[in-house]
Amino acid sequence: SKRPAANAIIQPNFKFEDMGIGGLDTEFSAIFRRAFASRIFPPGLVDKLGIQHVKGILLFGPPGTGKTLMARQIGKMLNAREPKIVNGPEILSKYVGQSEENVRKLFADAEKEYKEKGEESGLHIIIFDELDAICKQRGSSRDSTGVSDSVVNQLLSKMDGVDQLNNILIIGMTNRLDMIDEALLRPGRLEVHMEISLPDETGRRQILKIHTTKMRENKVMASDVDINELAALTKNFSGAELNGLVKSATSFAFNRHVKVGTVAGVSNDIDKLKVNRQDFLHALEEVKPAFGVNEEELT
Ligand code: ATP
Repeated sequence: SKRPAANAIIQPNFKFEDMGIGGLDTEFSAIFRRAFASRIFPPGLVDKLGIQHVKGILLFGPPGTGKTLMARQIGKMLNAREPKIVNGPEILSKYVGQSEENVRKLFADAEKEYKEKGEESGLHIIIFDELDAICKQRGSSRDSTGVSDSVVNQLLSKMDGVDQLNNILIIGMTNRLDMIDEALLRPGRLEVHMEISLPDETGRRQILKIHTTKMRENKVMASDVDINELAALTKNFSGAELNGLVKSATSFAFNRHVKVGTVAGVSNDIDKLKVNRQDFLHALEEVKPAFGVNEEELT
């Protein structure tokens, strides 16, 4: 019988706002409803409904938008074991059979715990970053070695085996949805697909707030900095780029206090350090968004 793994329960005091992810609450709610609702059904209901838990989800979208962040927080929310995070290129090996072995090993801990504890096993999460790297479309001429073929096949056979396990959740991530082998996306495999796109203005405001929390709390941010203004000025910035912007502004502020090459006297002066609006405007000249700029120029 397929009952929820005992430890796959939602943290009782879990709040999305506390996750440190800006602008993705709609996406998170949708993932939750489509992929995890069954894990908090009352005991027995999953049996009665005759359904199975979702075993895999796919997060896709441009780099630096918070996919890894989201995957990790999902693990925390579900009280899962520390997730195994691997990336596609890492799995691939030039030695015959080694890549399949790498995939097999990823599942070993979960399989072992399931053998020992059955449905009482904790939930194991495997996060596959750059999943496209192992795909290269099976059978295409792009990969003449056949290595990625057998890796995808190994992954498929492991995922199909999860049927009996019930204690594994796979989170795949990619910037290239078009590169993902369709066989991986079918029901029973990575069946819930969610696009994580660049943040809109509200999202950017939230992300900027998250990344300036410490400096605001410690009063290291000057009062002329207006997060709303910065959110408006950062169209097409990813979360990672907004984080980069804050770092860059900080380094401009630091630079006003310290001449490169002089270290003496820093500690006295640094108490007065405040990151101000001008530092952010400087940073905006330095940090540019990598994606979405062309579409922007067309309109
Ligand atoms: P990649 O496709 O390059 O792996 P990703 O989508 O997995 O990118 P993350 O690794 O989650 O991106 O993001 C990188 C960093 O950027 C995060 O550690 C965080 O500091 C910041 N960041 C990205 N998106 C967000 C967001 N939505 N909210 C807050 N911080 C974010």
